[in-house]
Amino acid sequence: MRIENDIKLGFKDVMIRPKRSTLKSRSEVSLKRNFTFLHTQKEWEGIPIMAANMDTVGTFEMAEVLAEQKLFTAIHKHYSLLEWKTFLNSVKPTIFNHIAVSTGTSEEDSNKLQEILKEHPKLQFICIDVANGYSEHFVAFVKKTREKNKDKVIIAGNVVTGEMVEELLLAGADIVKVGIGPGSVCTTRVKTGVGYPQLSSIIECADAAHGLGGQIISDGGCTVPGDVAKAFGGGADFVMLGGMFAGHEESGGELIEENGKAFKLFYGMSSETAMQKHVGGVANYRASEGKTVKISYKGNVIATIKDLLGGLRSACTYVGAKRLKELTKRTTFIRVQEQHNQVFSD
Ligand code: 5GP
Repeated sequence: MRIENDIKLGFKDVMIRPKRSTLKSRSEVSLKRNFTFLHTQKEWEGIPIMAANMDTVGTFEMAEVLAEQKLFTAIHKHYSLLEWKTFLNSVKPTIFNHIAVSTGTSEEDSNKLQEILKEHPKLQFICIDVANGYSEHFVAFVKKTREKNKDKVIIAGNVVTGEMVEELLLAGADIVKVGIGPGSVCTTRVKTGVGYPQLSSIIECADAAHGLGGQIISDGGCTVPGDVAKAFGGGADFVMLGGMFAGHEESGGELIEENGKAFKLFYGMSSETAMQKHVGGVANYRASEGKTVKISYKGNVIATIKDLLGGLRSACTYVGAKRLKELTKRTTFIRVQEQHNQVFSD
């Protein structure tokens, strides 16, 4: 047994220190970023915020709205080939730069991924997603997927430490997804005791990835636009959101009415609800590591996007960053023991 004594930080442990700035208005701030990906050398331009590949977030309906605003959607892996076909036949070509096809590491998932890519060669992004990115099997799967798809941008995760980010980039990933345990419907930390405070893992993983010319996605734990600003401030190239994009018209799942109030169901991808729905139950050797919640219906996602982008522009203005790219360089975090004033929250 060993103990690491230096403190690891989450979003709730810091604030961003304001700095003198020459910016007159938040309208001068650009949230677009340009990246050249490590293995494919493909270029990308957009606002680097992603909807998570959960079936109550990363839907086709969500992707259409997000792509229109230059954001990104990791489409969940449960759509059939026919559903993919119908969707892609009905959308604009620009969407291909703003969506990823998700896969797990089973043979069935892998075969389905290759079929989707074969039928739709314009798809550019693959998201290989497992709860625990530390297994040899996962690294081997990333290598195999890279060999089969030399021209696709590969996202792989999740991990939380620099050495594993390097290993995945060397195995063929262009972008590594970072986060174990911070998710809003995740119970991994409760069930297993395993995890890593998200802001520290962003800082450590971004450093490792940037050293090799790769990028990272901060995945999970953002509850308000300020957390997204902190994730970018810490060095995340992309930020992935589940809970903040859940509960909308475009989020999938049915609308429930109770006592005149509207709700939507939101659940973790390894919750009992998801496993019942997609694989017929929780296998008896495992525990569910996700929960199911009912959240107030939030209407169309465009209002949430505007609020989020407005918050980010304002964060950039407070530290004098004219472009999102400059936010990390201009961020000084201060450690705090308070966040927002909750006197009027219920
Ligand atoms: P949020 O933005 O809601 O805080 O976090 C979203 C992320 O939570 C997802 O992108 C995914 O990485 C993670 N996640 C989704 N479902 C589950 C689950 O059932 N269990 C765990 N451990 N993590 C989950």
